[in-house]
Amino acid sequence: MIKKTKWCDSLVITCSDFRFTTATQEFINNRLDLKGNYDYISIPGSIKNLLDRNTRDLVLNKFGVSVRLHHVKRVIILGHEDCSIGYGGSKNFKDSTDEYKMICKDLKKARTRMGIRFPHLKVYLYYATLLSENNQRIYNFEQIM
Ligand SMILES: [Zn+2]
Repeated sequence: MIKKTKWCDSLVITCSDFRFTTATQEFINNRLDLKGNYDYISIPGSIKNLLDRNTRDLVLNKFGVSVRLHHVKRVIILGHEDCSIGYGGSKNFKDSTDEYKMICKDLKKARTRMGIRFPHLKVYLYYATLLSENNQRIYNFEQIM
């Protein structure tokens, strides 16, 4: 029998970008109140790998391990602005609105993909931004509905 102590609530999928690592974990631990209760997968470019035909199956199969082994009930997918690996950075967009729209669209596509493979999971989406002001870094995590 599988012990329930080996189960966790959530699977977090995010980009490996170092600028967002600490802030993302703080957000999940404190704001979402999931400390010690999630699998954490960070991959370069985050959702891009889920949408790319060449990597999609590999990525989905890896997610499946968390789903099966740890019985996660929900998935939290994060995208962020200025994602170099996934999108070539902010410079590849006309402006920040354009970037926001594109990444949100991809986040939603990723949710659809997850829903097809794992219909029983709830999928939550967030878009992270980073503002540098007076040597201070200000992060914001917006939920995308
Ligand atoms: Zn990134």
